[in-house]
Amino acid sequence: MSHPRKLVFRVIMTLLMLVSIPLSANQAQGQGGIEVENATVAVNFGQSITFSAKIKSPLPIKQVSLLFRGVHEEVTRVETVQVAEDGSVSFTYDASLNVFPPFSSIVFWFQATLADDQTYTSSPITFPYNDNRFPWRETSKANVTVHWYAGDDAFGTAALDAAGAGMLAMNEFIPISLTEPVNIYIYSNVPDLQDTLTLGGEEWVGGHANPELGVVLVAIAPSSSQSIEMETEIPHELAHVMLYRSLGNKYDSQPAWLLEGIASMVELYPNPDYARALNIASDNDSLLAFEDLCIAFPTDAGNAFLAYAQSQSFVSYIRETYGTSGLGRLTNSYGDGFPCELGATNALGTPLSKLDSRWRESVLGQNTAGVAVRNLLPFILLLILVLVVPIWGAIDVLVLRREYANQSK
Ligand SMILES: [Zn+2]
Repeated sequence: MSHPRKLVFRVIMTLLMLVSIPLSANQAQGQGGIEVENATVAVNFGQSITFSAKIKSPLPIKQVSLLFRGVHEEVTRVETVQVAEDGSVSFTYDASLNVFPPFSSIVFWFQATLADDQTYTSSPITFPYNDNRFPWRETSKANVTVHWYAGDDAFGTAALDAAGAGMLAMNEFIPISLTEPVNIYIYSNVPDLQDTLTLGGEEWVGGHANPELGVVLVAIAPSSSQSIEMETEIPHELAHVMLYRSLGNKYDSQPAWLLEGIASMVELYPNPDYARALNIASDNDSLLAFEDLCIAFPTDAGNAFLAYAQSQSFVSYIRETYGTSGLGRLTNSYGDGFPCELGATNALGTPLSKLDSRWRESVLGQNTAGVAVRNLLPFILLLILVLVVPIWGAIDVLVLRREYANQSK
């Protein structure tokens, strides 16, 4: 293997040449439209994207714009580009400031205003925006591809096996869909993954899935504990992809605790530190309320870890209590737009806060009734004052009346 980065670049170029061939045959609107020749894209991941092409037109060109966006994006970036005498155009986009997600696809096309003052549009060209800083190797099975750059062949095979075992485990309660490909990228260390996510505009969160793209990113070093890490992280991130595929646009309206709870439930090695974190937080009365875990998880590492531990335990409790069908009713209910507290009432007949206290009672052995009384104590005292003082007053009045009656006898 000579220079891997060059190799990836050459693959991209080849792809582009392949897609640019029909371009000249299938030309833009109207007679005398524009033709785009020799379109190339050079990706320096996280740094720059350079678009080059030659615009051919029967009339003199007045102005050319380059338009591009991520294939799943709504907003199109528009840049006016300089045109050389021979129709050559080149534009370098700063990908460090205006980021695209790693391993997404970007589509671009040109618009040219010619001497007839008409604007002509070229056919779109799509190219992959991959993290090409590493010499990725790959192995696939049934539309699932594992990519890695550290470790031997057995490392890649083990990762593929972990993906298969994960899907087998989640199959009971998440429909598996492999009609679209799934790509799993294994970085060999956390800083490499962190760089990628930072360059891709994402906060660092350990493993990461971009369910819409069918892309999973994890950091696992070749080591004696690689299997445990693979069988924990790969099924978790794959679950996000499969949940997205089964829920579609209802995925985004699910509470964070529910998505993370389901994904954590399919980890083949339950995290042994979760139980400890739960017990400590329960004893210290520092458990997080699930109502506060609906939109997002805490950003600080300690509370984020507790949020995962709680969600895993809470969703397992819901599944044990209401079954897989109950879990399905819950995702449907949130998918239909019910708010966090009432979504649970609609699906399971019990509001979220009540489920929360039942979980604390039955899983963590808390006496939530006792806790409730303790929390209510100031109000109970106030109530006693409000009720008892008038009663005393009434007794006084009665006593006075009786004395008065006795006197008048
Ligand atoms: Zn997750």
